[in-house]
Amino acid sequence: MENLTETERMTIERLLRRERESTLEAIGHFDESSRDLRERAGEMSLYRLHPADLGTEAQENEKEFLLASQEGRRLYAIDEALERLYKEPEAFGTCRRCGEPIGLPRLEVIPETPYCAVCAAALEAGAPAAPDAA
Ligand SMILES: [Zn+2]
Repeated sequence: MENLTETERMTIERLLRRERESTLEAIGHFDESSRDLRERAGEMSLYRLHPADLGTEAQENEKEFLLASQEGRRLYAIDEALERLYKEPEAFGTCRRCGEPIGLPRLEVIPETPYCAVCAAALEAGAPAAPDAA
């Protein structure tokens, strides 16, 4: 299996961090009252890097909170991708569904995606997330 090189992973990390910044900015620009949302979203990621410090209930609350908006969902996906990148750098870039390499060209466009183009299309068409899992 072809994995990303370290240089390629660094490129992806840079892309993810930049997307994270612009997503946080987008959240902050929704309206005045969303300043809170931006702060909470920023805190959330710090928590996620130390999951042991946080109870399951609090984590679920933060997740629900973020998933309530489109930008929040994107931020959640980006944070999840960064977490995967840090925890399992060797596995990053392989499709969560079929295990094939996602490919750098696709990751450069959608760095947070856990799926290859084939699986992403299948999922959009309503296919099960993990056909091989029991
Ligand atoms: Zn796939």
